[in-house]
Amino acid sequence: MSPEPRNADTATSSCSAEQRRASPVWHPYAHLKTQAPAPRVVGGEGPRFTLDSGESLLDATCSWWCMIHGYRHPRLVHAIQEQADTLCHVMLGGLTHDPADQLARELVRITPDGLNHVFYSDSGSVGMEVAMKMAVQYQYLRGQPEKHRMLSLMKAYHGDTAGCMAVCDPEEGMHSLFAGFLPQHYFAPAPTASFDADAASVQADLDALRAVLESHHHEVAALLMEPLLQAAGGLNMTSPAYLRGARELCEEFDVLLILDEVATGFGRTGRMFAAEHADITPDIMVLSKGLTGGYLGHAATLASDRVHDTFIGDSELHAFMHGPTFMGNPLACRVALESLAVFEEDDYLERIANLNRVLCEELVEDDNLHAHPAVADVRVLGATAAIEVHDADSLEGAADFARTQGVWLRSFGRWLYTMPAYITSPEDMRQITEAMKGWFR
Ligand SMILES: *Cc1c(COP(=O)(O)O)cnc(C)c1O
Repeated sequence: MSPEPRNADTATSSCSAEQRRASPVWHPYAHLKTQAPAPRVVGGEGPRFTLDSGESLLDATCSWWCMIHGYRHPRLVHAIQEQADTLCHVMLGGLTHDPADQLARELVRITPDGLNHVFYSDSGSVGMEVAMKMAVQYQYLRGQPEKHRMLSLMKAYHGDTAGCMAVCDPEEGMHSLFAGFLPQHYFAPAPTASFDADAASVQADLDALRAVLESHHHEVAALLMEPLLQAAGGLNMTSPAYLRGARELCEEFDVLLILDEVATGFGRTGRMFAAEHADITPDIMVLSKGLTGGYLGHAATLASDRVHDTFIGDSELHAFMHGPTFMGNPLACRVALESLAVFEEDDYLERIANLNRVLCEELVEDDNLHAHPAVADVRVLGATAAIEVHDADSLEGAADFARTQGVWLRSFGRWLYTMPAYITSPEDMRQITEAMKGWFR
């Protein structure tokens, strides 16, 4: 995941010309004509991975934001090995197993109060598809079948499957060529108030949201959003006051609130979940990326009692008709349990706070960076930092430069950003911020 169509990879490769020509691998978000050959990764340790050339690179994006423990974490590796020795897979249709059951209990424990039911799937996109289907069926079962559309935000990114494409930003969201293929939903403007904005300053954003709800609520099943941080749509950050206001509007207009915490979940914004900053509980919440520490693909869609209990009924229309083959995969559930245990035992929230301090000092408080003519904005939230430039062209070559500094960066559009693994030391964090700033010197 992550839209990067405008800045094709320019990093040079360490694999031979023949290996390249021979490989049938079709890479994501790549222009087949201009793409540079992909560096070949042979292993990894902590925040770094190693190429076949022996080159070691500090991963500033922890592999699309999911490898929160870094590579080859002994406890996670061991958990997978142990589980593989016991039970690699069994279907969840009509059967259950301890890892699925225990993980569901843990997710209910750590997520905002009231999310008591867990539906598994195998990726963030599918987790969002599940959330949307659940919302539509919930409205149907309540006798409101006309409430079958979504309300999304501009700058949103919710995944690459068809249902998700339809709720990504329709122009910027890299799916515009599929417009004729996709169902139509409603969009409200992206929030503009910053993370620090108070209730008064988010009023204009909330008024814009209210206006769309006033016109279309009778058709809307759910409002969905990436809380506080619209990630792949341009690292747009907003205030907890916006979230609280959105929660209230959903109540007022009888619309469910779906929080897509696929990117923000598991500490990325400085709290375990972004919803905690606003002290709200969504009706449905989607988790993936950090869920398994990135070691296996999996997702969880959590639902409140209100949503879940609506599915208790006599007609066959009450069954939720969804069931990915690999839902609740024991290996994925087991490693997710271990990931959570490490997260809590090793106090990752403290580590994230330390990374946040470095990011603020080195980027937000760097006057030279702000003053650079190419730079439009510098912003930080939790363990996320973005340098936004005026013109995407000024990031052309930034990844190559970072690589000469021992850092793997992957900018997209007008954003040079880092979302490091939480085990990144302050020293390594500075190596990343130096590589980011160095590009502008
Ligand atoms: C990555 C992402 C998704 C999609 O997850 P996949 O596992 O790539 O399908 C959905 N929503 C958000 C906010 C994401 O960042």
